[in-house]
Amino acid sequence: MAGKGGDVDIFQLLEEASEKKTEREQLLQSLDVKEFFEEGSIKIDTGICDGVECRLCIQVCPTNALYWGDGKVNVVEELCVFCTACVLSCIVDDCIRVRRKRPNGGIEAFSTPQQASNLLRKTNCLKRFEMVRRRLPTAEAYLERYSDSR
Ligand code: SF4
Ligand code: SF4
Repeated sequence: MAGKGGDVDIFQLLEEASEKKTEREQLLQSLDVKEFFEEGSIKIDTGICDGVECRLCIQVCPTNALYWGDGKVNVVEELCVFCTACVLSCIVDDCIRVRRKRPNGGIEAFSTPQQASNLLRKTNCLKRFEMVRRRLPTAEAYLERYSDSR
């Protein structure tokens, strides 16, 4: 199919996109990354980055999506799982900006370690709450469990 901008074969593009997705899933599996976000974006402001001295983000990235080249931090977007580990470690506020979409459609955006750690805390609290709720579904069961252990 030809598009306005030239010879664009949409079927070819879709096929390439699905190949990339499978490639990405295989790569992530081999790295043992289980929890990741499918949709998101990452931007690095190389103008304020202090990478010559720092490069912490490259060290902490679990998928090797970041690398040093041409005198700056670069990102391989296909490998980024929007985990925010790089934002948490960055020494310059607003240098790395990560936006991601949760499966329920919620959008989250981070550009400072404080924002990323607040969200991690909130996520962990919700996970703990859910775990307790599964094991002790009623207030009575909760009180019985914890009054017994004292
Ligand atoms: S952690 Fe931040 S300041 Fe350090 S290299 Fe990465 S982007 Fe640059
Ligand atoms: S958000 Fe940062 S640390 Fe996480 S995968 Fe992407 S580049 Fe790596």
